[in-house]
Amino acid sequence: MREVELTQRKPISEEPEGIMTEETTTLIEGSNVTRKTTRRLYTWDEIPEWQKDNEHILSGYIFETKSFRSCIKSLFYLHNESVNIYTHLLPGICFFLVAIFNQYAIEHFETTRLIDYIMIDLFFLGGFICLMMSSLFHCLKCHSIEVAVFGNKLDYLGIVALVVSSMVSILYYGFYDYWPFFLIFSGITVTFGIACAVVSLGDTFRSREWRPYRASLFVAFGLSALLPVIAGILHYGFHATWAKIQLKWLILEGVFYILGAVLYGVRFPERISPGTFDMWGHSHQLFHVLVVIAALCHLQALIGAYKFVHKNLIG
Ligand SMILES: [Zn+2]
Repeated sequence: MREVELTQRKPISEEPEGIMTEETTTLIEGSNVTRKTTRRLYTWDEIPEWQKDNEHILSGYIFETKSFRSCIKSLFYLHNESVNIYTHLLPGICFFLVAIFNQYAIEHFETTRLIDYIMIDLFFLGGFICLMMSSLFHCLKCHSIEVAVFGNKLDYLGIVALVVSSMVSILYYGFYDYWPFFLIFSGITVTFGIACAVVSLGDTFRSREWRPYRASLFVAFGLSALLPVIAGILHYGFHATWAKIQLKWLILEGVFYILGAVLYGVRFPERISPGTFDMWGHSHQLFHVLVVIAALCHLQALIGAYKFVHKNLIG
């Protein structure tokens, strides 16, 4: 018995509500039985030029959908963005829940005030925005070039929100008894944050020529985190600063962020074995996991700094 395969890829215009699909109808000769299989994932060579980003990821792509419904449906099957979506979606939901129920999650001291919850929630809110923007971007990037560009802007905006909220919250406890420094360094952080948000959103700054300046601004923003640490060491001394802002956790946080950025930049491990890490374990997924670990290190530092202030400086 011979099987004849008829493969037909449906153009997007015929199927506005569905993803680009390829139907293979197998006719079994001598009978009128047909078998239909639908393919949803595509290879690097099959996807449109605008969807090509990492040439070491060879398969698992969703073809440009032009449909938000299809993008949402992609949450329920495995493709090469699935891990990127869920590594930020699930921690994002956890951040939100802890922020809501913070009075049960955070140790309460007699001196604990509303401002403590506001400062700790500020960090959770920044983390929540960053993680949700990121998962939204990874979920919708297969829609169209316009949606992908817009989502990418939101992704950058989320990073800015996370950095600003992380910095301001820890600065509050680090300079709890010296407000001028809290105000100065929060001011610097917010100014950098606004500048980074502007260059992330503006189309002019997103051009190829602006790329080095944009990257430099983000690096400067990251490095500006060293300024209050240096100021703290000069003002309080090394040991006091180490204890007040739980410096060991902040250093670990920095190490994880930098490691994530390096893996992301050099595209390791898919670079050494293209195609092997398409679904599981490619650099962007590792970067996402490291961002979450770094944020948890920051949380550890923030809670430690909060406890230090309430145990040693007040009460
Ligand atoms: Zn990402």
